[in-house]
Amino acid sequence: MTQRSQDGAREVLHARSAELYTRACRVIPGGVSSPVRAFRAVGGTPLFIARGAGAQVFDADGRSYLDFVGSWGPLILGHAHPAVIAAVTAALARGSTFGAPCAAEVELAERIVSAYPAAEQVRFVSSGTEAVMSAIRVARAFTGRELIVKFAGCYHGHADHLLVAAGSGLATFGRPSSAGVPEAFTAHTRVLPLDGEQALAELFAREGERVAAVIIEPLPANHGLLPQRREFLEALRRLASTHGALLIFDEVISGFRVARGGAAELYGITPDLVTFGKVIGGGMPVGAFAGARHIMARLAPDGDTYQAGTLSGNPVAMAAGLATLDALERESAWAQLESRGAELERLLAPLLARPRFPLQLVRVGSLFWLSFHARGASRTAAPLASVESARFAAFFHAMLERGIYLPPSPYEAYFLSLAHSDRDLAHFAHALPAALAAVP
Ligand code: PMP
Repeated sequence: MTQRSQDGAREVLHARSAELYTRACRVIPGGVSSPVRAFRAVGGTPLFIARGAGAQVFDADGRSYLDFVGSWGPLILGHAHPAVIAAVTAALARGSTFGAPCAAEVELAERIVSAYPAAEQVRFVSSGTEAVMSAIRVARAFTGRELIVKFAGCYHGHADHLLVAAGSGLATFGRPSSAGVPEAFTAHTRVLPLDGEQALAELFAREGERVAAVIIEPLPANHGLLPQRREFLEALRRLASTHGALLIFDEVISGFRVARGGAAELYGITPDLVTFGKVIGGGMPVGAFAGARHIMARLAPDGDTYQAGTLSGNPVAMAAGLATLDALERESAWAQLESRGAELERLLAPLLARPRFPLQLVRVGSLFWLSFHARGASRTAAPLASVESARFAAFFHAMLERGIYLPPSPYEAYFLSLAHSDRDLAHFAHALPAALAAVP
């Protein structure tokens, strides 16, 4: 089939999504509320999702898909989990928001504090972006310093000073990677490559006394999945402490997903501050940042660092988060998710043994990624060649045709949930060879 006839066939299959997309493009920039949803990396019409149930999503045309996006991380229990629906419905019936403290936020904060040793106090916000922005503000206030060190390939939300170009592998001054961000806003951001103790040591030797915080996704999952060496994370901890800087773990994806105590537990490293989102909100808009009491004490109203939110600690969102964490505990989720991930890996290993083109599976617990990089999966962020991106796009659509919904970008990790059954994993494994064969 030619590209045009393929596109035409897809349009017919997804007629209602296509119609909605046309309408959306008139009134919403790019037709979407967040760019990756627009399918630009894979082509075609984004699916408009009408509903989800367990591991399935159903599009506006009534077709069902096995979902490996999971709303990009929050849905660790799957879609429309009965316990979450019950908790949210009950909370909503009592009123949706008060702009005053509520019991549920205390309970969720207590739950986070008991699960995550670095967290003595927690402040809730409404997104991961806000969580990171606020953690950095408190880190700067606490240290009285300005510089932030981040790593190329790590995403920390869309706050101005963190929208900095993924570096070229060298220590570099921050340059905005988005229009609308003045260079002055990123002048206090330094970008280093992942996996490089040397570059970090050099930066600290050069300007360590100016560094307020080093921020990292301890399990980088926004440029594919790039698990780091423990020694590298230990070097971050050591260098930050030596130079009086704070270490911030951005666990917006990994928090309560890869272990009860997140990646910090997995690696046995304690950050000074941590950011959460996704899982702790059970599918509702929630973020949080947490840390030692003496650092968090800088926040208003006790301290001089302002941070606030109309819907922060929202009772309905807190109820969803609590119901999710309850279910995770009840179902010994982390062991289960690891064994499902291991099962998927076992099923896929023989299928990936002799690929027609470079392809590698990377997995940590319930997060996995198929790397289309010719030079193999790595620990540092590297762009895909255009032929590799094109392979992914073809693979994506071939999987979609087989009823499997993957993230529509070659740089996004795939998410497993407790709702993915053995049958679902077998479905993925069954679809894979044919989808790979469809890649030109
Ligand atoms: N940090 C990390 C590690 C993330 O993955 C994300 C979003 N994917 C964010 C921060 C920003 O979170 P949000 O989209 O909720 O603002």
